[in-house]
Amino acid sequence: MPSCQRILCSVGSCIYNSKDDNFCTLDSVQISAAAKSDSGAPYDETLCASYKTHQKKK
Ligand code: SF4
Repeated sequence: MPSCQRILCSVGSCIYNSKDDNFCTLDSVQISAAAKSDSGAPYDETLCASYKTHQKKK
């Protein structure tokens, strides 16, 4: 994998997101199939499994 790869991301609620610069601070992320992975729509098919919230779990 090229070491210069950047992951652009605007998910501001993730602890790995650099909000001002619109990118992920991790070297790599795991993208996984989402629960509704049968519609063909990106928001149903994929999710970032490396996501970590700023908030404490309830
Ligand atoms: S871990 Fe995933 S959701 Fe979080 S900033 Fe990186 S790409 Fe975005």
